[in-house]
Amino acid sequence: MGGNGNILIKNGIVVFEKETAKTDILVQNGIIKSFGKIKEDDFEIIDADGCYVFPGFIDMHTHLDDTIGKYYLADTYDSASEVALENGITTLFNFITQKNGNTLIKELELALEKYEYRKKTAANEGKELCSIAFHLTPVTFTENDREDIAYLAGIGFRTFKFYTTYKNAGIYTSYDDLSEIISILKDLDATILVHCEDNDTIESVDITKLNLTKSISHALLRPAEAEIIAIRKILSIAEKSLARIHIVHVSTAEGAGLINEYRKKYDNVTCETCPQYLFLNEDKLAAPGGHRFICSPPLRPEDNVSKLRGLALNGHFDVFATDHCAFRKKDKDNFFADIRDVPNGLPGIGALSGLIFELYGGLNEQTAVEISGRLSTNPAVITGLYPMKGVIQEGSDADLTVLGFDGEEKDIVSTKSFCYETYFGKKTKLDVRYTLIKGNVVFEKSK
Ligand SMILES: [Zn+2]
Repeated sequence: MGGNGNILIKNGIVVFEKETAKTDILVQNGIIKSFGKIKEDDFEIIDADGCYVFPGFIDMHTHLDDTIGKYYLADTYDSASEVALENGITTLFNFITQKNGNTLIKELELALEKYEYRKKTAANEGKELCSIAFHLTPVTFTENDREDIAYLAGIGFRTFKFYTTYKNAGIYTSYDDLSEIISILKDLDATILVHCEDNDTIESVDITKLNLTKSISHALLRPAEAEIIAIRKILSIAEKSLARIHIVHVSTAEGAGLINEYRKKYDNVTCETCPQYLFLNEDKLAAPGGHRFICSPPLRPEDNVSKLRGLALNGHFDVFATDHCAFRKKDKDNFFADIRDVPNGLPGIGALSGLIFELYGGLNEQTAVEISGRLSTNPAVITGLYPMKGVIQEGSDADLTVLGFDGEEKDIVSTKSFCYETYFGKKTKLDVRYTLIKGNVVFEKSK
């Protein structure tokens, strides 16, 4: 593993942005140099005969190596990278959230320090990390904060994330603040990510009518209506500002429908959904051990799930991402009688590519282009990594995923950390043969 970034990938079906084609790929110094029938004696060779070659997948929504609420997340950069690379994911986006009274710049420094430390330890142990990138979440908006935001956008941070909920966690931003900050970020050429669940709707739920010992109450505490109302508000802000806005983890068919209507007139809004909203329904919450499936937005009823799958297959979502937010079993179980004490979030990185291939009914020349758009190209475009990443073309980073057509069936493994498996019992035939970052093999399937 490792290497000098010089490699020749022969005989694969290469997934370009609009079509697939059988061609060799020559990679020099980590960059894609040329295509065609190439003869090159000095380069390491991968024979991709009978395989598709995708641009490395990008999971643009993961929570890693950070404290959320009372708990430290189960996955660090290195544990998340391990399961990502095995599943063809080459880039992970993490979130840096302003907290503890720190400025956003201070928070960024702390996060980068941790990341550098993990990189060093991983290198010492001979482990590979994904390419890691960050979204920033400011939560206060004083004059100084605004200067920080402008500075950070100026040095290349392109994506800023906001929450329309989580007042108690201290990360809530009001629609008024959001409108204002969006107009500032628009001028800085940034993209705004928004978690849409309307805080007032959630706070107006009459909890005296709920049995808070039951996990299914989580779905009632955060009703579909909250997401739909917030999406409607954000779309009206989008219409006024014409800023680039990306709505994360859409879980309701009605919310997705509103976005689709909006996009008949405007092109400044993109959206994502996650495998859990396409493959799991709220029956998981109602069953014994349902607290393991508490995440926000919550899992929805089956009729919504099947509608969402239909919308996904019709191209309503630009991106599939996981919202990976893994808590250890003991932390997930550490509540007494009130399910509001259960930390919100599910592991999913290792499940992403397998489940999305299943959604599309497997791998062929058509589905390959559709999938590549949503797992590679669109995430790169939205986050500003394109065209260095997210696409196979001359001059791009050689972040590549070599997939066989049909592997043996194996269990889906969302994370290797000590967590409950989100997709327990679910299998995949996804056959990742090689994963490369900048022309270096960082994962190779054992024979
Ligand atoms: Zn998230």
